[in-house]
Amino acid sequence: MPIRSGASPRSFRALQRTLFVADCSAALPFKALAAPYRSACLLPLTMAHSSNVAFCDGVDPAALKGSELPTYQLPKSPAEGLSVPSGGCVVCSEPLGAKTDLARLRCGCFFCFQCVKGRVNAHIIAYRDRQYTMPSPENFNFPCPACSTGCDLIERLQKPSASGMPLPVADEYGGPFRNVTAMQPPDGVEAPWLANYYEFTALSHAVQISCESVEEAQRMITFSQIAGRYIRERLMGPWKRLTSALGMEAGMEAFKWDAEAEAVRASIRMRDIEITAMRRQSAQLTGQDRPVPLTVGTVVWVAGLVKRPEYSGFEGKITAVLPPNTPGNTTGETRYRVSVYVVGIELSLRAENLRPSLDANDKMYDWGMQFAMMAEAFNQ
Ligand SMILES: [Zn+2]
Ligand SMILES: [Zn+2]
Repeated sequence: MPIRSGASPRSFRALQRTLFVADCSAALPFKALAAPYRSACLLPLTMAHSSNVAFCDGVDPAALKGSELPTYQLPKSPAEGLSVPSGGCVVCSEPLGAKTDLARLRCGCFFCFQCVKGRVNAHIIAYRDRQYTMPSPENFNFPCPACSTGCDLIERLQKPSASGMPLPVADEYGGPFRNVTAMQPPDGVEAPWLANYYEFTALSHAVQISCESVEEAQRMITFSQIAGRYIRERLMGPWKRLTSALGMEAGMEAFKWDAEAEAVRASIRMRDIEITAMRRQSAQLTGQDRPVPLTVGTVVWVAGLVKRPEYSGFEGKITAVLPPNTPGNTTGETRYRVSVYVVGIELSLRAENLRPSLDANDKMYDWGMQFAMMAEAFNQ
């Protein structure tokens, strides 16, 4: 069963639905198959119907405001919402005007980043202790500590402090820094800040990725790849909406700052981190690391771009391998020319920014697809 770019195979939806149901009820037959995936705390689920949320969590979804938030652009200036309010953090009561590491949620509420991190962690642990599964943006949101709006994406804002002090360091969960301008009390002067964006589950140390055998690692890699493939498809919604409304150039810029797209990119970062961790553990267990070779024709997806984060998550094909120090590549490192499918442009990228897509020749791919087909049959 080939997976076509841009397509949303019915079996994926069925797989997700089944995993969701299986995770919620020990009585269903997929429990055993879902177990390794569950142990990795992976939730490749988008079947976030309110009834499922209520069923799984015992929370009335109507009590979570903001489940139908309008299209939302990440703010990059005080005019767009980056004005730190005077007053204190709701969690610790300390004045926000004195802080240099802040979190801003989708509802517009500001907190100390560390305070939100603590609240997210407590929220996830409480959820995990009631359920088999970990919450994810697909099935549950983090309720804002101030106004209870359900939030999936957490924006971190860091102010580079006085010269001589070390600059904030971006981590892989939050993605690359973006330069924004924010205004902070008490002086209300606009200043440059650094923003990056986290799937809320990334702030919890309760999410641990580990496995005990090579088979388990490979199963979880396959699950994460299937989940990642499905999640990446969700970039298409905002991309089509924005490029058809604004044209390609302005549409891509708006897409870069689109909260829905960034929430998907944050989720992709999590899946990518999971796959990398599993690969590392698998390599430790087997004593060998076999990276997929990158050659002309390899189907890849783009990850972790710093200068052009809006392309992260898109799929494409390698059209040329550019050896170092050649006319096509004056850098000292091999680069790969990648034709990005939907955008229709070519990017010259390093190996560290390329991830092989699901490999149809992989035995585990077969296993994943068989499972997907079983799930489909089960759901009919
Ligand atoms: Zn605080
Ligand atoms: Zn709020």
